Amino acid sequence: MGQKRPYEHQKAQKEVKELESYQCMVCWEVNPKAHGHHLIPYSEGGSAAMQNMMTLCPSCHTKYHNGELKIDIHRF
Ligand SMILES: [Zn+2]
Ligand SMILES: [Zn+2]
Repeated sequence: MGQKRPYEHQKAQKEVKELESYQCMVCWEVNPKAHGHHLIPYSEGGSAAMQNMMTLCPSCHTKYHNGELKIDIHRF
């Protein structure tokens, strides 16, 4: 949150959210404020590719980063 990200990155986040119709991959809630989550964090060298992104609603995203949510999703 609040980090500066390259333009390409923001674009990829927007694309993945549109692709998944802003639907959370955990609870399936559709939320226009859905976040693009990185499977491999950007800070750890994760790419901006769609394969590295998933859509999470703000509450699941927060839970995930608090370690309260285990995601086991194999999309590809
Ligand atoms: Zn959710
Ligand atoms: Zn995240």
